[in-house]
Amino acid sequence: MTVSVALFTQDLRLHDNPVLYAARAAADQVVPVFVLDPAVEAAGFSTPNRQAFLADCLADLDASLRRIGSRLVVRHGDAAEQTARLAEETGAVSVHVGAGVSAFAQRREVGLRARLGDRLHVHDAVLTVVPAGRVTPAGKDHYAVFTPYHRAWQRVPRRAVLPAPRSLGSPPAVRGEDLPTASAASPALPPGGETAGRARWRKWDVDAYADVHDALADDGTSRLSPYLHFGCLSATELVVRALERGGEGAEAFVRQLAWRDFHHQVLAARPDAAHRDYRTRHDHWQHDEREAEAWRQGRTGYPIVDAGMRQLAHEGWMHNRARLLTACFLAKSLHLDWRIGARHFLSLLVDGDVANNQLNWQWVAGTGTDTRPNRVLNPLLQADRYDPDGAYVRRWVPELRHVQGRAVHRPWLLADRPDYPDPIIAPDTLADRLRHARGLD
Ligand code: FAD
Repeated sequence: MTVSVALFTQDLRLHDNPVLYAARAAADQVVPVFVLDPAVEAAGFSTPNRQAFLADCLADLDASLRRIGSRLVVRHGDAAEQTARLAEETGAVSVHVGAGVSAFAQRREVGLRARLGDRLHVHDAVLTVVPAGRVTPAGKDHYAVFTPYHRAWQRVPRRAVLPAPRSLGSPPAVRGEDLPTASAASPALPPGGETAGRARWRKWDVDAYADVHDALADDGTSRLSPYLHFGCLSATELVVRALERGGEGAEAFVRQLAWRDFHHQVLAARPDAAHRDYRTRHDHWQHDEREAEAWRQGRTGYPIVDAGMRQLAHEGWMHNRARLLTACFLAKSLHLDWRIGARHFLSLLVDGDVANNQLNWQWVAGTGTDTRPNRVLNPLLQADRYDPDGAYVRRWVPELRHVQGRAVHRPWLLADRPDYPDPIIAPDTLADRLRHARGLD
């Protein structure tokens, strides 16, 4: 009997999983393994919200594997070392893993290769639809601008969607640790796992997406980001299903998945962009811990900003429009270093992702891939436009729940002042700073 090892990383699913599919094709029995690597914790990446979501994902994966007569082997330690040890214990002919893009994933692959040599098979188009580096502009190793990337991305032939395996052979007869458990920091975290992710996709209305995706109070986006981050859902499968359905909503949704691929290919080529300016503008950020803390706590006195920050704390997730305007407020109104904001987002986001978080932060701060690095988002205009009736603010800022309509966005103008912080920077100063950031003075 031949044995192969399938090392799960950011692909915690049975459906459309090229790693599992190839491992099955290579041997009579597949040993599915997930390694809890202390290096992830040491890097500060293993936060309570993501640990809790991951625990759900692994429990769901194990249950699904058991339904087809297998089970998940959990190990603790260095991922490369533990996987190589498991390959020795089981006499595996091959080990299969998905290609990653972060510095951590790249180091893991080097470690696996050093130990396993050509028994290691790295599969691409597992994490993203188009593998990082598959399309590049002439003479460059990655695209730095989204629009031409998107055009090239649309032309790449997509691999076929793979079925979930019906069997992986007999269950592995090796030692494994208990499945992890963890408590979330945010009380309203979504449930993790492939089963929950597929249920969410079935329930969500993609047709309305083009019209409602920016409306803060409508909450009409897919909320699939954590499932994509942990690979409970395959981005390729979502693109194929959305395009089969067709229509403006599906097209707009597929474009967002191209943004995800775009950031992944930037990070694969420039792993240091996780910490360093992708394109430095020699900004001299201010240091003001009091302002940074007011922003983190959702007490800036700008209700639309505070609403976003409080949604993040409560759900471990924030609407994209709120991410944009809260990030812009930190970087371009308070003029604090984008890394301060990115770190706070990563500490709470259940979808917290090095590629998407750091590179979106850089995009907003003007140090990243935005072709208009002086772009600013005025929080008051954003509020009027994307929360015209104030319903999003009233949902997240209870101190202002009694204020009707869009007056909720400027509480400092109310005759009856609510018990709510004064603006951290005066509205006139805010306007001056945004003018300055735009390069207009
Ligand atoms: P939908 O609107 O339904 O979009 C579908 C999918 O497309 C998302 O699940 C996501 O995988 C992808 N996507 C959408 N917008 C973007 C984008 N701008 N960049 C990359 N991929 C995108 N996304 C993360 O997954 N993890 C992060 O850590 C993260 N941090 C962010 C930080 C900032 C400052 C900003 C401005 C954006 C960040 N995003 C991040 C991107 C985006 O806000 C989220 O992906 C989106 O809000 C998730 O909600 P959804 O699943 O309902 O998205």
